Amino acid sequence: MEIIFDNIKFTYEGSNEETIKGLSAHLKKNSINAIIGENGSGKTTLIQTINGLIIPDIGEIRIDDFRVKKGIKDYKDLRFNVGMVFQLPEEQIFNLTVEDEIGYTLDYYNYRQDEKEKHILDALKMVGLNKDYLSKNPLSLSQGEKRKVAIATVLAFNPKVIIFDEPTIGLDYKTKENLIKIIRLLKNRFHKTIIIVSHDVDLVHKLSDYICILSNGKIVKSGSKYEIFTDSNLLKKYHIKVPKIIEFEKLVLEKKKIKLGYRDDINDLLKDIYRNAK
Ligand code: ADP
Repeated sequence: MEIIFDNIKFTYEGSNEETIKGLSAHLKKNSINAIIGENGSGKTTLIQTINGLIIPDIGEIRIDDFRVKKGIKDYKDLRFNVGMVFQLPEEQIFNLTVEDEIGYTLDYYNYRQDEKEKHILDALKMVGLNKDYLSKNPLSLSQGEKRKVAIATVLAFNPKVIIFDEPTIGLDYKTKENLIKIIRLLKNRFHKTIIIVSHDVDLVHKLSDYICILSNGKIVKSGSKYEIFTDSNLLKKYHIKVPKIIEFEKLVLEKKKIKLGYRDDINDLLKDIYRNAK
């Protein structure tokens, strides 16, 4: 699904400053779109407008034929299409068993019992948890497992858009790599539109197709990840770290005078170095 923010403005109640300040942007369908920017720039606020958790004071968000704007009260159908994995799984999890947690939304959307069971098992499998987890208390699980349950809860109702807010915070290397695989699969095999908010520039570099930089409530630049991450002045201006792979390429150019192509994957880069060194 294509997502268009059309000149939206939003101020939190009681605040005297706009958090979103006349923002327009376009997130592409069947792609991984990353939103990056400093703390407090408005990323979490912005993504919450996509499924109507936050309604802009001015402007609208268009998600295919859905609209989020003042005056529209019912977002049930929209939320069936737009799933959100929150930053802290604890904010999302509130049932006493994994089965009830994943099944809750399916009940809300009136899934038949047999369908519900199938969707729960498929979603668990996709995040790499087995049936034994169904009876466990989700809040007693490790941070990585909680995150997986939170993701499975969203995957179970099969939304077309999936939003991940800081998906890798607190995860170990293996769980993080696993999550990267799942997100790629969601795009490549299931043609989802993915939105990721993350401070982890290496993750964003590895995963995303397009990037928007948010600063002080506005999108200051959007483009392909190549355009964004190769513009060192832009990154400096908005205090965004340079991904390690790009730093490495620069170093090879400076020290060895070898100009490497832009690569997503460190293994491809190593092959290039080997070829150049021969
Ligand atoms: P980011 O995700 O980029 O860190 P946020 O969207 O969380 O940014 O916050 C943007 C601004 O909105 C910050 O100045 C923050 O203090 C303010 N803010 C966030 N949530 C609330 C809230 N519930 N009430 C008032 N102000 C808020």
